[in-house]
Amino acid sequence: MLLPSFAFSTARSVEEALELWACLPDAAYLAGGTDLLPQLRLGKRAHRNLIDLKRIQSLSRIRETEAGLAIGAAVPLADIARHPAVREHYPLLVECCRRVGAWPLQNRATLAGNICNASPAADTAVALLTLEAGVIAVSPEGERVISVTGLFRGPGQTCLRPGELVTEVVLPHASAGWHGSYQRLSRRQGMDLATVGVLVASSNGGAPPRHRVSLAAVAPTPLRVADAEALLDREGPRAARRAGELARDRCRPITDLRGSAEYRREMVGVLVARGVAALSGPSGIVVPGAGGPGPRTPDPGPQSQGERP
Ligand SMILES: Cc1cc2nc3c(=O)[nH]c(=O)nc-3n(C[C@H](O)[C@H](O)[C@H](O)COP(=O)(O)OP(=O)(O)OC[C@H]3O[C@@H](n4cnc5c(N)ncnc54)[C@H](O)[C@@H]3O)c2cc1C
Repeated sequence: MLLPSFAFSTARSVEEALELWACLPDAAYLAGGTDLLPQLRLGKRAHRNLIDLKRIQSLSRIRETEAGLAIGAAVPLADIARHPAVREHYPLLVECCRRVGAWPLQNRATLAGNICNASPAADTAVALLTLEAGVIAVSPEGERVISVTGLFRGPGQTCLRPGELVTEVVLPHASAGWHGSYQRLSRRQGMDLATVGVLVASSNGGAPPRHRVSLAAVAPTPLRVADAEALLDREGPRAARRAGELARDRCRPITDLRGSAEYRREMVGVLVARGVAALSGPSGIVVPGAGGPGPRTPDPGPQSQGERP
C-alpha cells in the first residue's frame, strides 16, 4: 500500500510547532515516524499535514534539571541508550530502549513517540512507569507535567489534548539506581512488538529494598502491579511465585495474532517469578553504571535477554 500524500513542514522551535499545528488542517507531529508513517500507509490514520520535530534543537538534548534527567522528545532511542548519565543512573531505560525493534529503528525512533503512540506493548513504557517518570507537555495554554501513569488512557489513547506537544520526559533523581531486568517474549526479535513484557525492579541500596513490577502488552495500557510490589517489599524473593499470581490476576490480556489471552496471563506469572529471581542472581540483571557509552552497531547481548519461550 502506498503512502498517501501529505504536506511536510519543518518546525525549528517548539513555538513554531504549536503555531503550525494550530493553523494547518488535519496536522500531526512527526518524530521518528516509525509508528506514524506505517499507520498512514495502512490507512489507520489520515493526516494532510505532518510537522517534523527532529530539527528543533531544544528537543534534541538530554540535560540535568532540578527535577531529574530530562530527555528531549526528538532524541533517538539509540542516543538515550548510550548516554553516560542514563547508563549510569537509569539502566532499566537503557535495556528497554534496546528492546524496541532493531538498531536501525532505534537510530530514528524516539522515547516521546513510543509513549505518545500509546501502544499497550510499548517497551519503554514499563521502564518509565518503574522510574515514575514525568512527561512535560506544552500547548498555547502553557506547560504541564503529566505522570507517565496518568498519560495512558487506552490503546492508542493518551490524555494529551489536541495539538499538545511533549517536549521532554523527566527521569526523577529519586529513581536513580533502580535495577532489575525486563523479561520480554515476542515472536521475532527486533521485528515484532512484545507478546508479553514484564519488568521487575528493586531500589538501589537501602534496607529493606523496595520493588516495582510493570507489565506491557497484557492490558489496554502498560501498568504497575501495586499489590505484587507491596508483597515483595514485605516478604522479599521468597514471595516471587505469589507476586506472579497477583500480577496474573491484575492483567487483562486480549487474544490477537501474537498470542492468546490465556498464554499471556500464564506468562505474566512465569516472567514475574523469573524477574524476581534475576534480582538476586547474575542472570538477566542490569546494574547501574553497566558499561560506558555504547556503540551504534548491533549489540546482540541485551536484545537476546529474556526472549526464552
Ligand atoms: C519494524 C518495527 C518494529 C517495532 N518494534 C517495536 C518494539 O519492539 N517495541 C516498541 O515499543 N515499539 C516498536 N515499534 C513501534 C515504534 O518504532 C516505536 O513506538 C517508536 O518509539 C515510535 O517513535 P517515533 O519517534 O518513530 O514516533 P512517531 O511515529 O514519529 O510518532 C508516534 C506518535 O506519537 C506522536 N508524537 C510523536 N512525538 C510527539 C511529541 N513530541 N508530542 C506529541 N506527540 C508526539 C505522533 O504524532 C504519533 O501519533 C516498531 C515499529 C516498527 C516499524
